[in-house]
Amino acid sequence: MFENEWERRWNPLREEWIIYAAHRNNRPWTTASNASTAKLKADYDPNCYLCPTNLRIHGDRNPDYSDVFIFENDHPVVGLNSPEIPQDQQSSANGLYIKKSAKGIAKVVCYHRNHNLTLGELPLDNTYKVFLELKKQMEEFRANPVISHVLIFENKGELCGVSNPHPHCQIYATDFTFTITQKHFDVAEKFKQKEHKNIFEEIINAEIQDGRRVFEENKGAIAFIPFFARYAYETMIFPKKRHATLLTMTDEELYDLAETFHRVIRKFDKNFGIIFPYVMTFQQALVDGSEHPEHHLFISIQPPLRQPDLIKYLGGPETGSSTFMSDTMPEQKALELKNIILE
Ligand SMILES: [Zn+2]
Repeated sequence: MFENEWERRWNPLREEWIIYAAHRNNRPWTTASNASTAKLKADYDPNCYLCPTNLRIHGDRNPDYSDVFIFENDHPVVGLNSPEIPQDQQSSANGLYIKKSAKGIAKVVCYHRNHNLTLGELPLDNTYKVFLELKKQMEEFRANPVISHVLIFENKGELCGVSNPHPHCQIYATDFTFTITQKHFDVAEKFKQKEHKNIFEEIINAEIQDGRRVFEENKGAIAFIPFFARYAYETMIFPKKRHATLLTMTDEELYDLAETFHRVIRKFDKNFGIIFPYVMTFQQALVDGSEHPEHHLFISIQPPLRQPDLIKYLGGPETGSSTFMSDTMPEQKALELKNIILE
């Protein structure tokens, strides 16, 4: 049904081409992933620095928490105490080379006390609680004059480089804008000038109209593998009503978003019968005091696997040239997920 498809598609949010060559999907492979996607057995690990009551690296002891537990990362990539760069050292090579301090706040968000239960295995209520706590975090960051950009992300599974299997996500809140957020601003602004419309709303409308790639939907949220997906199971989850960040979402809207996210990741797990690894990010506007009417919050999930034992390696075209090759069609993978019945 999809084997003969061979074309390139434009990703309007990243402004790049993706080449789809589904006719190559059956080519022989000799490299299989051997990173573990198996279930952990114990619900508590005395050596885990995220489990309740355990000591962390710098001597802080975790409380005996049950649901969500948030703390500042002991090994931060960005910190409010990162060294200041003197003014006369910030620029060199006639302004070509620029450096600044790595300022920000890095936090860890443990989802639950259980060492071995992912969000997809826990009841929906746990995901909802996590989303409510993330909104509270956003309120703190909005009130902090140093912070303008907030990235919430989860690296799930060994394949995605997670350093501790205890289910958790992370927050990097910084005083500068990350690349993809800036890109989203730029394309949304350009689209607004040209079409007098919101690019994110147009993408949602296009996906609803086509229908083939939408595989989860409830009253307030919608999930699809976009027309321009780079990864086989790449999924975007939008609240149907536009919000620039989590900050303006009502509890009901957050619940619908959490429910859709929860169903998506359960479908991922059920599809192959493994804990399906992914990189998840909340794509939000800045918390710099502006309203950002052109931005539309969404959750982006980018799983590295194409099949249970087949990882999408980033080779010459991707790493060397930022142009993705896909051996599967978004319609094909969305159909697979549509057909999964969750009990
Ligand atoms: Zn643990």
